[in-house]
Amino acid sequence: MNKIRIGYGYDVHRLKEGLPMTIGGVHIPHTKGMVAHSDGDVLLHALCDALLGALALGDIGLHFPDTSDEFRGMDSTILLKRTYDIVRSKGYTVGNIDSMLTLERPKIRTYVDAMRTRIAEILEIGIEDVSIKATTKEGLGFVGAEEGVEASATLLLFKE
Ligand code: MG
Repeated sequence: MNKIRIGYGYDVHRLKEGLPMTIGGVHIPHTKGMVAHSDGDVLLHALCDALLGALALGDIGLHFPDTSDEFRGMDSTILLKRTYDIVRSKGYTVGNIDSMLTLERPKIRTYVDAMRTRIAEILEIGIEDVSIKATTKEGLGFVGAEEGVEASATLLLFKE
């Protein structure tokens, strides 16, 4: 296996009135939240898939099936930690992450540094190695209709 590997992940969760919204391990006060088997943290799920994808180890559904009671309502920071443990067990470390969140509301700019800090802690990297960008869909599609939130992530793994 190469010493440098690239990974990509993508996730979507449906939104519903009255449910909690957690993105990047940070609770975001809002009228709607994620419909999910776990806490529905789209960004962390995209990151898990990017970590697994970099090593061609399948996807989050393979490692943490949503049919399992163990993962019901689970804090996705635990999923990210467990995924990172798999990466470490293969001898790899995270280089840097670039990610994108797509949601209409609320504005999440003020939460981005808290998300970067949380992710950096879990993956044992510096906050400067975690990029989180955010955009709306200009009212288009399911994101524009505030029916869902989308996230994607690209990252680099390396072996010393
Ligand atoms: Mg998910």
